[in-house]
Amino acid sequence: MTLITSPPFKKPRRSDPCFCGSQLKFKSCCGDLSENRRIPHGIDIIEKFLTADECSELVKVADGSPKYWLDVEVDDSTTGEKAQLKNKKIRNTRGVRLGKHAKLFEDHFWRAWTQTVPDTVGKTIEHYEPFEMLCYSAGGFYVTHGDAERYSPEKKLWERTFDRDLSMLFYINDNFTGGQLHFPNFDYAYQPKAGDLVIFPSDHRYIHQAQPVISGRRYALVSWAAVKGGPRSFSQAREGVIFTDDKPVVAVAPADAKKVSWLNRVKNKILGNPDNPDNPDNNNSSR
Ligand SMILES: [Zn+2]
Repeated sequence: MTLITSPPFKKPRRSDPCFCGSQLKFKSCCGDLSENRRIPHGIDIIEKFLTADECSELVKVADGSPKYWLDVEVDDSTTGEKAQLKNKKIRNTRGVRLGKHAKLFEDHFWRAWTQTVPDTVGKTIEHYEPFEMLCYSAGGFYVTHGDAERYSPEKKLWERTFDRDLSMLFYINDNFTGGQLHFPNFDYAYQPKAGDLVIFPSDHRYIHQAQPVISGRRYALVSWAAVKGGPRSFSQAREGVIFTDDKPVVAVAPADAKKVSWLNRVKNKILGNPDNPDNPDNNNSSR
């Protein structure tokens, strides 16, 4: 492992040149606060990527699926180790266990990563992580965080702890209030709309939060990808990632043992492994 680090991104002052290279002042460019502002450089919103029919079908499946409380990864200051904890002051979000219905959603991510991202962002994806489906009920939120990097206060540097270059969010409903996706470095907040796809770089310039849901239930589906030729902190891809050169396997021949175990790992990642007594989700399922 070669940990890649970077100094903190300095949010430009209002009259500074914009970070995006436009030659405009930040306040007239990516930091514009007016109502009809542009979407900050690097953030792409594909409106109506999913049709209304697709959204309502997916919401129906999600509503009927079991939910479980999600962990956050924290540094244990006594041992220096990373630990997975449930901490509702940081993240008050449930995951959705989709079971056999996951396939319905997987195809949309495949299309988005392999077609939409090359077409609109101009990047080719090497591999991406199986999506997670999140459910924020009233009061649900996730504090500001980066998807790929973690800030080290001792080193005063951001450390790339996941080889993720791009983050992707799908929204399948908008019948809730609150729950904006907020990017503090650009004072930019996006109010989710059903069918929209949001893509942005995973690095710390694009730290973001899910603001508290006030009423209703907010679904979001999330996945992260590594682009071809991108930097790597780790010599090996994480277990379970989906390589885009290799269409995900739907039906598996029994003789193909390697693919079977790959498929099981993906399944376990999506579903949780019900046979594993160490899986904390086993005791915390709730509807
Ligand atoms: Zn700009």
